[in-house]
Amino acid sequence: RDESGQWREQQQQRGGPFIRSGAEFGAFQTPIGLREISCFQFVARGESGLYAMISLHFKVKHMKKIIIAIDGFSSCGKSTMAKELAKEIGYIYVDTGAMYRSVTLFALRAGLFDADGNIQREELRDRMHDIDISFRLNPDTKRPETFLNGENVEREIRSMEVSERVSPIAAVDFVRAALVAQQQRMGREKGLVMDGRDIGTAVFPQAELKIFVTATAEVRAQRRFDELQEKGMPACYDEILRNVQERDYIDSHREVSPLRKAADAIELDNSHLTLAQQQEWLRQRYLEAVGSV
Ligand code: C5P
Repeated sequence: RDESGQWREQQQQRGGPFIRSGAEFGAFQTPIGLREISCFQFVARGESGLYAMISLHFKVKHMKKIIIAIDGFSSCGKSTMAKELAKEIGYIYVDTGAMYRSVTLFALRAGLFDADGNIQREELRDRMHDIDISFRLNPDTKRPETFLNGENVEREIRSMEVSERVSPIAAVDFVRAALVAQQQRMGREKGLVMDGRDIGTAVFPQAELKIFVTATAEVRAQRRFDELQEKGMPACYDEILRNVQERDYIDSHREVSPLRKAADAIELDNSHLTLAQQQEWLRQRYLEAVGSV
């Protein structure tokens, strides 16, 4: 506080909390510990209104950045968990499944599957350098969306057609090598939540926090069905269940980086958890990992 009793922004320059003048410290002190207080952003709005925007984002600003690897079976809610956590703590979120899906979409469009559904490996190998995958934040939803060669393919890569072809594509060694290299580059600065199948085992075996998510195939198929319906995309529960089981099998039996739980990963079966419970569980694991609880 300065002489007139006002909080000053100077704290920010010292790497301390960002406190705008007028915010009353004590009012927000009770429900949370002093440690958290230092990380709040206090915002004064209007003449009399005072709002404290309490956000983990500001808290982690002054904490060490880590890599969070979230692996698990298809459609078990990994991306929902990962996205939410990343948003809360101000980390970058990377959906690696979207990258394999994008390569699949590219291969489909380029006619790189033969009539029997086999991949034309050599042609795909030659075309790999034509594939550019990136993520951009949608300013309205505040969520990252997938771009393939500059085109927003977020919706198309979730179609059943892509889902049915993606696991064989993801089993191709040179596809994995290219995408894993890109994923590792994304993680150079840390401060990243990445979800997939091999993040804790192959992409970032040194990740400070590894989560392995499971749920029954039926629960996962139902979630995927609901998600597609919500988006107005065609969906058939039995077909989805079959696809989920098939992908589980291919993903866990392929030669290169098969899906498996890293020895140091923490397992979460979320079959019977609500989204809120799951998020709280993950938040606690994150706080433990950064040594804050
Ligand atoms: O996560 P999602 O279900 O969108 O992933 C689609 C497919 O991409 C998976 O079924 C799997 O075959 C492949 N994949 C992978 N390795 C990753 C992420 C996804 O093999 N890290």
